Amino acid sequence: MARFISRRAAGIEPSVTLSLNTRANTLKEAGEDVVGLAAGEPDFETPDIIKEAGIKAIREGKTRYTPAAGIRQLREAVAEEYSALLGVDYGWKEVVISHGAKHSIFNSLYALTDPGDEVLVVTPYWVSYPEMVKLVGAVPRIVETGAETGYKMTVGMLREEIGRGRPKVLLFNSPNNPAGIVYTREEIEAVGNLLLEEGIALISDEIYEFLTFDGVEHHSPVKLLPALKDQSVVITGVSKSYAMTGWRVGFALAEEQLAYRMGAYQAHATGCPNAISQWAALEAVRSGAADRERMRGEFEKRKKMFGERLAAIPGISFPEPGGAFYFLADVSSLYPACGVSGSAEFCEKLLQEKGLLVIPGGPFGLDKMIRFSFEWAEEQLTMALDRFESFVSDYS
Ligand code: PMP
Ligand code: GLU
Repeated sequence: MARFISRRAAGIEPSVTLSLNTRANTLKEAGEDVVGLAAGEPDFETPDIIKEAGIKAIREGKTRYTPAAGIRQLREAVAEEYSALLGVDYGWKEVVISHGAKHSIFNSLYALTDPGDEVLVVTPYWVSYPEMVKLVGAVPRIVETGAETGYKMTVGMLREEIGRGRPKVLLFNSPNNPAGIVYTREEIEAVGNLLLEEGIALISDEIYEFLTFDGVEHHSPVKLLPALKDQSVVITGVSKSYAMTGWRVGFALAEEQLAYRMGAYQAHATGCPNAISQWAALEAVRSGAADRERMRGEFEKRKKMFGERLAAIPGISFPEPGGAFYFLADVSSLYPACGVSGSAEFCEKLLQEKGLLVIPGGPFGLDKMIRFSFEWAEEQLTMALDRFESFVSDYS
């Protein structure tokens, strides 16, 4: 059968975050002594009021197909909440509910690009971005950043990149996975103004919008520059903010004609998002703010504890995360002593020798780095740090 596989499908690799997460769970289930800081997902239970809304939906028989772009009640609630948050009016027809924010990004790329169109993807990028761009037949153009700019894209870098080709879309993510960096108001304004000038569309992935720490503020490009609404898709959802990763509900906000096309695509590709999960997500949007803030507060404490100990480990460096739940650390100074040539080998060695599973930076576009997710309970974070410290001291 292998000979029938398309070139397009053969070019796609599995998600390293999801596959390593499964590996950590499988090893633990088999009784192995493994600590996993793999996938970024809240370790809290979905709050009770949200679970109850899902159970109620089942009991009330809300188990049939819904409109392709989602139930009207949820589209209205999201439109209302984000019109207020962004200070820009979104009508309910400008909201498309999908099967997770990942699916919302895919739909946006599908609706915005034709085969061969260029999409700018900034390092460090979430592992799925380049693969999704390739899946829709477009071409990822990577904008490289480094420690000099705090792993952020400057407007100068963007201008240079635009000069090199004809990009149609910028895929932008703040707060960022995998480094937790948060762009400032001024940085976003500069980037947004250039997009307006050059007529480049924006997919703004704001899935970590409510997860910022130590007074750092999230700024949405559309809020800062309302004129951007007409050329932007804002991506968000309930997975991270309300501990609902497995329910699979994401939101895309976009001007009506684009939203209509995304809904039309979804009608044929998936039918509609899960009905029960949509009712639960409605409860999250309407009444989940207190639980969301409680969990954010816990993540903030975990970040402090993890960051303090990580900073004390010699030979590594990292940008201070302002949001999301990741530390992306440059461990390349340890590669020669460890006898490894890149992040995948480094992580494999760490797993084999200390039973600690973290994500290599290569698939995020930075092979010098590794990603720790810090949303776990303190006990697990402590064990992970003990193991990492011991590994580093073995090779120092
Ligand atoms: N964007 C980023 C940057 C993410 O880290 C994730 C995490 N999976 C997503 C989108 C997708 O979220 P969801 O689980 O809602 O599909
Ligand atoms: N976004 C999370 C991560 O990067 C979840 C896994 C995934 O969907 O990639 O770990």
